Amino acid sequence: MPSAVTRLDVVIVGAGFGGLCATHRYREMGLKIVGIEAGGDVGGVWYWNRYPGARVDLPSIDYSYSFSPEIEQEWTWSEQFAAQPELLAYFNFVADRLDLRRHYHFSTRVTSAVWDEERKLWTVRTDRGQTFEATYCIMATGPLSIPKDPDIPGIARYKGQLLRAAKWPHHPVSFEGKRVGVIGTGSTGIQIVQEVGKQAGELFVFQRTPSFTMPMRNQALEPDYVAEVKRHYAGLREAARNSPNGGVRPASTRAFFSVTPAQRRELLDDAWKQGGLAMLGTFADLLSNPEANEHVAEFVRGKIGEIVKDPVTAEQLKPRGYPIFARRPCLDSSYYETFNQPNVHLVDCLTDPIEEITEKGVRTRAGEIELDVLIFATGYDGLTGAMLACEVVGRGGRRVSEKWKNGAYSYLGLMMEGFPNLFMTTGPNGPAALANIIRISEHDVDWIAALMTHMDQHGLACVEPTGEAEDRWMELVVALSQRTLLSKAKTWYVGANVKDKPLGLTLFTGGFPKYREYCAAATQDNYRSFAFAQTADRVAAT
Ligand code: NAP
Repeated sequence: MPSAVTRLDVVIVGAGFGGLCATHRYREMGLKIVGIEAGGDVGGVWYWNRYPGARVDLPSIDYSYSFSPEIEQEWTWSEQFAAQPELLAYFNFVADRLDLRRHYHFSTRVTSAVWDEERKLWTVRTDRGQTFEATYCIMATGPLSIPKDPDIPGIARYKGQLLRAAKWPHHPVSFEGKRVGVIGTGSTGIQIVQEVGKQAGELFVFQRTPSFTMPMRNQALEPDYVAEVKRHYAGLREAARNSPNGGVRPASTRAFFSVTPAQRRELLDDAWKQGGLAMLGTFADLLSNPEANEHVAEFVRGKIGEIVKDPVTAEQLKPRGYPIFARRPCLDSSYYETFNQPNVHLVDCLTDPIEEITEKGVRTRAGEIELDVLIFATGYDGLTGAMLACEVVGRGGRRVSEKWKNGAYSYLGLMMEGFPNLFMTTGPNGPAALANIIRISEHDVDWIAALMTHMDQHGLACVEPTGEAEDRWMELVVALSQRTLLSKAKTWYVGANVKDKPLGLTLFTGGFPKYREYCAAATQDNYRSFAFAQTADRVAAT
């Protein structure tokens, strides 16, 4: 029997950083809201990613909301880089403090969102048979929410314990005395390896492309430091919004070859000792000058050689053939050191590729490796995966999958021509992945709020960007992307990790302040880049 239809102002998809922020903001505007979240509770990626060692690789102080000075004062981070349980506790704290959960349907997935041109509203359906009708649909689905299994035959055949990093069980998993395999050596795999290596009887690390990882040098936050931060949050947030990556971290205007080789070495050594993302802040041209980039890459390869005792393993761990930082830089606490343990074995899938997964484990060209536990840390269908995972149908029956058949295409990463009143937070073609996701989320939520207020004040029923504005934005995104080395590695940034996905860097690489400028300009020039329709037949939410 079809369920009753609920009429709303806004449907918000996702209860991660973007979704919770949107729920709070739009509720304050007096709008009638429903949130839909596939996870069992709030937290987004941090709800799902409960694997051992999961930890944010941006400073916790930066990786938190700025919209509530009360929450900033009431919440206290314990470590420089918070672990997943503390991040989830933060989400719970925010959700409780602002009473956000009551707006959400959890463990519920959106199956379709269809624009009704006549009635000027979105019809959103879920896998629980619910139907919502809303003037606005906000896809706060995040850039990394659709995990991806490896393209290896035989997965279903495996009889041991199969664990996926991005869908980790909610109960503790013991690796004590077990033969464990990890496939994938990106940020996730690296964090898992260094933890599971301490417990497993034998650990086999299946590495196809080695990542560059640098010491995190995590530490407890001293009360005096936290008090100082709390006194200066407003200024810190402002600085973050004005920095290219949306966070407070070291940056430099110095070009690599403007200083002597000895000075360069000293600066890189200092950055290595300092840890975190200090290395990224040593020189301004690391992502634009290939020669400078290669010097830094070689510096890190040298460090790997110093740490890893077995020369063959050290050589296999050294990334080559792509620029450092073109893949997301990883931070570790003991990754390379883990390979000095006798129970940890590197399987170099470049020389010994995985052929299949068997009942008992993994078969590489060299033979079968039997495993009690197999862990996939094989990444995500990034940036576009979540939008394409449900059926989003715009004006004239046009699907997002058609619009994006050659890659993500939007205006400011926020809206799409042909999809009125549909907004994305941290969407593709914006700076997602290259700047602090929480700063972007807050910005996007505010920008959408201003547009919805404008429409309300002017009696407008629907809005979408003009095709011309969208084309101009995409030309800019493409032109800027050609100036960086980011597209020179096979990563989720460029869609290279998903079979048959269109290739291309669908991110705005001009930095967060410039992005904010473009977004502000789009609304300040009398909304010339948008097409509006009058309210006439708009039906109010009841
Ligand atoms: P990822 O960076 O895409 O890494 C996936 C790994 O799986 C790669 O090493 C990939 O190798 C490997 N892989 C995939 N298919 C394979 C196959 N058939 N055979 C062998 N290896 C295979 O994914 P991720 O590590 O989950 O990280 C994704 C993003 O999440 C990061 O870039 C970061 O933005 C975010 N993240 C952040 C944190 C944090 O804040 N600390 C932690 C984890 C993740 P190839 O490269 O050769 O394809």
